[in-house]
Amino acid sequence: MDFDPSPAAQEFRAEVRAFLERHFTPEMAERVHRTGQMHDWELHRAFAEQGWISAALPPSMGGQGRGPEELAALFQEFEFAGAPYDGMSISMLGVAVIAQVGTDFHRREIVPKVMAGDALLCLGYSEPGAGSDVAACTTRAERDGEGWVVHGQKMWTSLAECSEWSILLTRTNPDVAKHRGLTFFLCPMNLPGIEIQEIETLGGKRTNAVYLDNVRIGDEWRLGEVDGGWDVMRVALAYERGVMGGMSDGVRLLEAARSWAESSRRPDGSRPLDDPAVRERLARTAIHNEVADLLGARAVWVAASGDLPGLEGSQAKLFATETYTRASEWLCDMLGPEGALQHGVPGAPADGFLEKSFRNATVTTIAGGTSEIQRNNIAERLLGLPRAR
Ligand SMILES: Cc1cc2nc3c(=O)[nH]c(=O)nc-3n(C[C@H](O)[C@H](O)[C@H](O)COP(=O)(O)OP(=O)(O)OC[C@H]3O[C@@H](n4cnc5c(N)ncnc54)[C@H](O)[C@@H]3O)c2cc1C
Repeated sequence: MDFDPSPAAQEFRAEVRAFLERHFTPEMAERVHRTGQMHDWELHRAFAEQGWISAALPPSMGGQGRGPEELAALFQEFEFAGAPYDGMSISMLGVAVIAQVGTDFHRREIVPKVMAGDALLCLGYSEPGAGSDVAACTTRAERDGEGWVVHGQKMWTSLAECSEWSILLTRTNPDVAKHRGLTFFLCPMNLPGIEIQEIETLGGKRTNAVYLDNVRIGDEWRLGEVDGGWDVMRVALAYERGVMGGMSDGVRLLEAARSWAESSRRPDGSRPLDDPAVRERLARTAIHNEVADLLGARAVWVAASGDLPGLEGSQAKLFATETYTRASEWLCDMLGPEGALQHGVPGAPADGFLEKSFRNATVTTIAGGTSEIQRNNIAERLLGLPRAR
């Protein structure tokens, strides 16, 4: 494989970095921290003005035709800067899926508002009993004349509180194999019977539980064929896998820890950085970050070569999030009792960033596919071990 980024990816990375320097303000960073919302409307609209919501779409579908390398650079730069991008990545995914499997009605009603950065979509896949095994979805959609009635509960629906539509996975046929009886809707979130309840996660990010109590929805909002939800899911995953970010949290963690180790003083006047044990932890974190970066680059390379990096994405996600978790534990330990001081508390090392990383790291091993699921994938597909179930 070729580890050197293409000139187009390098150029785009520089463009994204310049965009963030211009538009991502310290006030926005503070707001993200305070609200836990991984979205900022001002930044989102500026992003949309660049035409980047259709960045992944081919020009024949009205997009910018940017490849996996460029998309990876985009999300990596957002992560390096600590800028929120959940709203952007889901909008990009939604527009791409609608372009491929949506109807003219969806393209007319939804796409222009999303492309302009004026409306968001959220992902209504997970349920209390269907997360890793998303095909176990039990939220029922039943035919009712020309339309449908939806009843059930969704869990962890991030940005539901500010989204106009949910890409909602439902069960339309309980009598066939579970992957075969699913149907997607682009469900307007203002329909009667929808209730959103806030959930605050360990890492401080806000997500939601969404209750659907006999929600009446017209057939025009259906996405894909009846019972053809798994085909739609495949299209969505093809856009998502391996290139949607989440691999670089350890880089900011290391920067914050190094800066603390250089600038603070122990009671005897020495810098933590002069302590070989501290240097050893920083060095190990740097090595892990490098390996995570290379594994991510491999997944991107596979995607750029036209394949789905299912296995390579699992390896990269598992390694990046597990080593980020380990590093955040080491670095928090290294701070002693001060490591528990949160952002805004006087004397908090690195203004509480290390403490927050410690809480956030565990969450990254769950969202987007848990470590156990990634390990199963690697065990089965790379090592040829028997299926877990
Ligand atoms: C911050 C955050 C934001 C999220 N945002 C969204 C969102 O916007 N939309 C959305 O639809 N979902 C979202 N999710 C849900 C996320 O995709 C799920 O949490 C994840 O897929 C795990 O599902 P679960 O939480 O139901 O855990 P479960 O699947 O119930 O798993 C529980 C435990 O059992 C283990 N386990 C499960 N199956 C196996 C197996 N076969 N072998 C071995 N171990 C297994 C898991 O690894 C885990 O440790 C979000 C989650 C988080 C934390």
